[in-house]
Amino acid sequence: MEIIYEINSRFLELVRIRFPKDAERLARMSLIDESGERYVRMANLACVSSHTINGVAALHSELLKQTVLRDFYELFPEKFCNKTNGVTPRRWMVLSNPRLSKMITGRIGDRWIKHLDDLRQLEPLANDSGFRDEWRSIKQAIKRDLASRIHDQFGILVDPTSLYDVQVKRIHEYKRQHLNLLHIVTLYSQLKQNPNLEITPRTFIFAGKAAPGYHMAKLMIKLITAVGEMVNKDPDLRNQIKVIFLPNYNVTNSQRIYPASDLSEQISTAGFEASGTGNMKFAMNGALTIGTLDGANIEIREAVGADNFFLFGLTADQVVALKASGYNPYTYYQANPLLRDAIDLIASGHFSQGDASLFKPLLDKLLRQDPYLLMADYQAYIDCQQAVGQAYSHADDWTRMAILNAVRMGRFPLIVPFANTARRSGRCRPLRFRWLTPPPPMAC
Ligand SMILES: *Cc1c(COP(=O)(O)O)cnc(C)c1O
Repeated sequence: MEIIYEINSRFLELVRIRFPKDAERLARMSLIDESGERYVRMANLACVSSHTINGVAALHSELLKQTVLRDFYELFPEKFCNKTNGVTPRRWMVLSNPRLSKMITGRIGDRWIKHLDDLRQLEPLANDSGFRDEWRSIKQAIKRDLASRIHDQFGILVDPTSLYDVQVKRIHEYKRQHLNLLHIVTLYSQLKQNPNLEITPRTFIFAGKAAPGYHMAKLMIKLITAVGEMVNKDPDLRNQIKVIFLPNYNVTNSQRIYPASDLSEQISTAGFEASGTGNMKFAMNGALTIGTLDGANIEIREAVGADNFFLFGLTADQVVALKASGYNPYTYYQANPLLRDAIDLIASGHFSQGDASLFKPLLDKLLRQDPYLLMADYQAYIDCQQAVGQAYSHADDWTRMAILNAVRMGRFPLIVPFANTARRSGRCRPLRFRWLTPPPPMAC
């Protein structure tokens, strides 16, 4: 603490000189929050002591400058930059998807593994029906493998030709696994009400851990497995939907999931996902994305083309504006019979052996506060999922889009710090900021 106080007094001296007579700014930028019980502001300490501040995707790098770190941007504009995240194709393609990787290497050699942009050479083959057939049969084989694993481990039969609709990531309210669930419950309800209804068969796959003290996230997992138990055994659904929660989500298990996916769920509330990297791993393995304009989704959509991406929902600006205008989630519930039906079904205890109290905290939060705007985005999500189902039924067009997703991911290789040429080529700028007074000799 002695050292932190010393850093703080020198830092605030600098702020005082740069912005005289601005006590509020000083209080905001102090490394110590003194509005209530005192604590150290770790983010402020990080900004003061860091050479460079990166938002890890273009949107978030902008949001940092305009919102949470605005004061720091005004003081140290030169520290702020953007290096959009990337993932290593060595792990996320070569190791985890050997079949697809061998096929690619067979066409263009293995230089792409270190120069991901080379994948672009495959782009014309998206129009080659033989290549599409080969691509599709590889995806099918990978999906069969995952289906047989799921059968061996959990005794659940999934149809490997169904659309694998996958959301794997940490469980969090902002990532909105429960929005995905509302779509599933809506499909379930429609199939129960109309037993002759034909939909595009889907296997919904979830995986992810909740932080130990995050009760709402654990309740979201409970709701996934509860819906799964009802859906998977109900003969009325004629195997048109299955819901699987794969436990112990980690890197090893995830490597089996990304390559088998058709649809990548990247449905965070716009403005909340700094970048995402799962979104990149899915796309480079030929999954299409359903997603919001959040984090790196924006840049992925730019790279793969808007026609090859299922976009829905409010933008980050619209999220801020809606909240400022006095958002009332309950009005969406009242106005939308489809949404009301899904919420009411969960509230009735239908998925919890008649226990209407189990999911009450989750539903109450959605109807009273809904900080992540599920109610506002629900209908747009349902409509977009309808379009996804339609598109998947045109298998050849779907495969063409999947190929274009994979081969246009050259913009997102992992940047290895110091192993690249930035340092040697002198692109790192020197530090402008210097302490005003030289540090005193150590008093020890
Ligand atoms: C890639 C990855 C993540 C990050 O996923 P997001 O969808 O970007 O949140 C988390 N956990 C594991 C095991 C991963 O492989």
